[in-house]
Amino acid sequence: MTDAPLRLRLDSDALTNNWRKLAAMSGPAACGAAIKADGYGLGAAAVATRLASAGCRDYFVATWAEAAVLAPLGLPVSVLHGLRAEDRALARSGIARPVLNSLAQVARWQAMGGGRCDVMVDTGMNRLGLSVDEALSGVLDGLKIDTLMSHLACADEDAAMNAAQLATFSALKGQVGARRYSLANSAGIALGRDYAFDLTRPGLALYGGVPRAELSAIRQVVTPEAQVLQRRLVRAGATIGYNATYRAAANTEVAIIHIGYADGFFRGFSGSAHALRRDVALPVLGRVSMDLVAIAVDAAVDLAEGDWVSLNYDLPAAAIASGMSQYELLTGLGGRFDRCWTPQSR
Ligand SMILES: *Cc1c(COP(=O)(O)O)cnc(C)c1O
Repeated sequence: MTDAPLRLRLDSDALTNNWRKLAAMSGPAACGAAIKADGYGLGAAAVATRLASAGCRDYFVATWAEAAVLAPLGLPVSVLHGLRAEDRALARSGIARPVLNSLAQVARWQAMGGGRCDVMVDTGMNRLGLSVDEALSGVLDGLKIDTLMSHLACADEDAAMNAAQLATFSALKGQVGARRYSLANSAGIALGRDYAFDLTRPGLALYGGVPRAELSAIRQVVTPEAQVLQRRLVRAGATIGYNATYRAAANTEVAIIHIGYADGFFRGFSGSAHALRRDVALPVLGRVSMDLVAIAVDAAVDLAEGDWVSLNYDLPAAAIASGMSQYELLTGLGGRFDRCWTPQSR
């Protein structure tokens, strides 16, 4: 805690309830957690600690540096981007399993002795992973594969590609041996039990994102709050902020709060978002600056310098207001916030 003028309120119970909901929707499959990009901006170690006490046993990060941060927790971690030559020392230390994505990565892991690993197969996204033909070519013979996985390209839409990827992955299951099979991200869990296999890998929905209507019971986890730096009267006809994009029609009470696009409160919120004080909406006026935002406070007569307001961060609504994706709204949350979990103990 640094007494910063901006903080994230993080709801431990909402996080663990979201995981339990996704675990229940996953049926008999285990439910893991994608905590790459510092736990989607919330703080990976804090997220993992809480999910571990709820029963989560599988964690996914993008890089070995992210795995190293989690190593003191002693949890089972998989590194989604696999194994570059530069990663060999950390991989050898055993802090995580690589998710092997290419023939070169498979060869590199085998040359290192080939312990337990995961393998990603591409079933249509054309991002990371061995092709189906490569996976069936025999190069995986003898590898100790814990989890064979693939990733859905369009799970947040009702697209024909979902069933096509499901069929490709199901066929692969009969032909490549592994301890477990895994396909679904958050939205994939909502597509039904067929998509769950042995292990699901939600990220977004753990943190309050709602990628499909079936997940509308997911609860908000993150609420940014910012402190008032100054309160001022803007006279009728005067303007506010860069490029004078807002002109006051009447005398307007304004508060300047300590948050901006450098904190992940993006410029797309200019004129379209609102802050909240005791459920009273206080609209954002004019353009969001790097470190400052102006809000209308005629409806909050007693709001003064040093007081706090929260920002409306219901993710589906905030995504529409800002033109950003729910993912960007989470992973953009910057380093200047104090991250405050309640209750602190969980
Ligand atoms: C990020 C990621 C996930 C989690 O996806 P969400 O849409 O956030 O639930 C799952 N699997 C892989 C391979 C990923 O890269």
